[in-house]
Amino acid sequence: MVATPLLPLEAASPAHICPFDQACSYLEAAAKELKLDQGSLEILSHPRKVVTVSIPVKLDNGEVRVLAGHRVQHSDILGPYKGGIRYHPAVTLREVSALAMLMTWKCALLGIPYGGAKGGIAIDPQLYSIGELERITRRYTSELIKDIGPAVDIPAPDMGTSAREMAWMMDTYSVNVGHAVPGVVTGKPLSVGGSLGREMATGRGVMIIVREALAEQGKPLAGMRIVIQGFGNVGGAAAELLYQAGAKIIAVSTAKGGVFSPTGLDIPALKAYAVANRKSVVGFLQATPISNADLLTLPCDVLIPAALENQITEENVNQVQAQVVAEAANGPVTLKANQILEARGVTVLPDILANAGGVVVSYLEWVQGLSYLFWDEERVNREMEQLMVQAYHQVIQESKVRQVNLRLAAYTLGVGRVAQALNDRGLYP
Ligand code: GLU
Repeated sequence: MVATPLLPLEAASPAHICPFDQACSYLEAAAKELKLDQGSLEILSHPRKVVTVSIPVKLDNGEVRVLAGHRVQHSDILGPYKGGIRYHPAVTLREVSALAMLMTWKCALLGIPYGGAKGGIAIDPQLYSIGELERITRRYTSELIKDIGPAVDIPAPDMGTSAREMAWMMDTYSVNVGHAVPGVVTGKPLSVGGSLGREMATGRGVMIIVREALAEQGKPLAGMRIVIQGFGNVGGAAAELLYQAGAKIIAVSTAKGGVFSPTGLDIPALKAYAVANRKSVVGFLQATPISNADLLTLPCDVLIPAALENQITEENVNQVQAQVVAEAANGPVTLKANQILEARGVTVLPDILANAGGVVVSYLEWVQGLSYLFWDEERVNREMEQLMVQAYHQVIQESKVRQVNLRLAAYTLGVGRVAQALNDRGLYP
């Protein structure tokens, strides 16, 4: 089923894998396994609300440009809509819709009381000044003012956005409603009610899930050869934490290219290099240059795609040599590639589990804000770890009981919980 009545703006390009169709395929597989009724599947296949706004912005050179800003609210069956805001040139309404659906299952899987949403603007933030980004973010927020709120829809950072954009969103929302509303976003700076541990949270979650999966195979993290595609908020934090745990990070990359060292990269030195070189790792002297394509096929124990979707496909999957693939990005392994890896006995840790650390700490930030009581970092990390480890074991258990792979197990858990709530709430009118 390709269910897109609310997504009329763009036709899916036949040459590319449509991310929304792929998300629907995963949902359908879970629905089949759960023997879900046709009506529930029909409801869950559609986003509840799709908003696209025009964002007119005056650039620094005086020119006016109009950008399209999306926010897709997939489901609020379990609680307020929740999900990040992505600034990336490849953003489309279909991609945002797919990612919104993924957020629904992710929150349900982690047992946090949220629905799923995602927002995005198709821009390369590196090409805009800070002033321009602030005007874009504020106008986008203002256009969405009736659609977001701490009990309605709570944005957070995603690719291309950070605590800085969340502070602008929080301020714009607060000024518009006339009083401070820190709970309208998560991933905020500490000064306005952010949580300790939020910045490293997605990377920390990846480290925890990889550690648990290796432990299951009787292997410690120490000494494992790990390859990471992406060295930003997620890949960079995962690299740092895995390095601290004694793993050998043998290659990392950004969109500009990667670096490789068979004996393991000095991650703190590489991080300092990237900070000084506009986030690029290219040119780091103690390593060999490597392309993003070659990096994915390096011999290693664990491969962590932490950048964009559809990186491991039918075309390159047979060259992938890792025994464990952890999806730190959303949807980096295609459906077909996943099947091929699985047939080869490779463990694929699905995105809605592996990269859930960010939204879990978003939830902990929201809880701290609502209770006006802030925790130390150790407590935040402990509570997050508990939720991640619990979800990991639930997925393993589910996969054993149902005799399905980890992705389908994660989906049957997430989709099953939302379907149960949908059934309990009933259909209005
Ligand atoms: N953007 C992150 C994700 O995809 C975090 C979302 C959030 O914290 O709401 O999971």
